[in-house]
Amino acid sequence: MSQDSEDRTPSRGIRHLVGKAVHLFSMINEGDRILIGLSGGKDSLLLSLCLKELQRRSPVRFELQACFIDPTNGEWNLSPFMEFSSLLGIPLTVVNHATFSIIEARGESNPCSLCANLRRGILASKALQVGCNVVALGHHLDDAMETAFMNLLMAGRFKSFDPAMTMSRTGIRVIRPMILIREKAIEGEMRRLGLKPMAPACPLVEKGTKRSEVKDLLSSLEAQTPGLGGNLLNALLSIPSPFGWGKPHENP
Ligand code: SF4
Repeated sequence: MSQDSEDRTPSRGIRHLVGKAVHLFSMINEGDRILIGLSGGKDSLLLSLCLKELQRRSPVRFELQACFIDPTNGEWNLSPFMEFSSLLGIPLTVVNHATFSIIEARGESNPCSLCANLRRGILASKALQVGCNVVALGHHLDDAMETAFMNLLMAGRFKSFDPAMTMSRTGIRVIRPMILIREKAIEGEMRRLGLKPMAPACPLVEKGTKRSEVKDLLSSLEAQTPGLGGNLLNALLSIPSPFGWGKPHENP
């Protein structure tokens, strides 16, 4: 991806949803040092732009760094990542890791879950090393809905990942500021901003994963039931934590 001096300011609508999520789930505190998980996909690229813009506008002061975990273990061209992070003025760390070889060799039925756990663990360790107390991930609302459906179909419970949580082992907070944004809106924003993803292609995508099956199922359900996305979001918001995103039930 070639970067230039064009305006990369996210639209007001996208900024509004990020601000709303940050406020609703108390994601960012004064003095936080945030490490962005920069995979090079559309979600993490837009997340970086949004957090940079939030940093510029917010009265709450926080610092930003980024980390690219190269899942090809050092075979990927880093120059677009260097260019992007230097354009934003966000220091970048690169970690080489054989994620793709590991997930292919393991032959898991749900490789995305293993992949996400590996990456989250690496990011948390790196955050501690570089003095960050928060890791920011680019998950959006469609990711959350797919996870809730996968859990419903395979584990018998309607539960998604949390918009903000603290990892018990490291004490690192994990935040997902794009959690209220639909994937299509992210794609549209990337086109508007003239940005192209620069992530290495996952070898499992063409073979199909459980997540891609659930994604197809949800999109066909949504085509038949307009408003399904909003209903699923309301369901997540109205179920108390730890299963949904609502406030925990208070003891009587
Ligand atoms: S599609 Fe590939 S890269 Fe993405 S989470 Fe799944 S295994 Fe990891």
